[in-house]
Amino acid sequence: MISLPSKDFLETQIEDYIISSEKVAHVQLGNSAEHALLVLTKTGYSAIPVLDMKYRFQGLINTQRITESILGLDHIEYEKLPEIKVQEIMQTDIPLIKITERFQKALDLLIDQNFLCVVDDDGLFMGILTRRVVLKQLKKQIYQIRNNQ
Ligand code: AMP
Repeated sequence: MISLPSKDFLETQIEDYIISSEKVAHVQLGNSAEHALLVLTKTGYSAIPVLDMKYRFQGLINTQRITESILGLDHIEYEKLPEIKVQEIMQTDIPLIKITERFQKALDLLIDQNFLCVVDDDGLFMGILTRRVVLKQLKKQIYQIRNNQ
């Protein structure tokens, strides 16, 4: 029989589990696609947030979007990279999660996202919550339940 994680687990606040904003690689509005590609390649991350000057969340940028933006008919037009701004190609239709939310909500959203961008009430970027971190906590919880049976 499978035991379900406790109600306490689902009500855990996400705040203690986020990677805080100062540790999150990001780009800013006005940065070029070339700069974003450099950051993505150097860090090895699949996607990174785009923030404005006040550190408010604006969108996500990933390598696929950058490559698509320079796809020519029969070759990749790398020379266009410095002219393209991240805001022209970033993804904006992504779910955000508030820092005051709980694991229950994060679990729902992390089914379709590798990580969630976390904001406060004013839209200020607080950090990210990754699927990896939440799965680790879920695994701990399941092992605890098994050991207590
Ligand atoms: P991970 O769970 O560590 O594999 O991270 C999953 C995804 O979350 C990465 O591919 C990135 O898109 C994003 N991510 C994780 N950590 C960071 C970070 N420190 N800065 C920017 N993005 C991150």
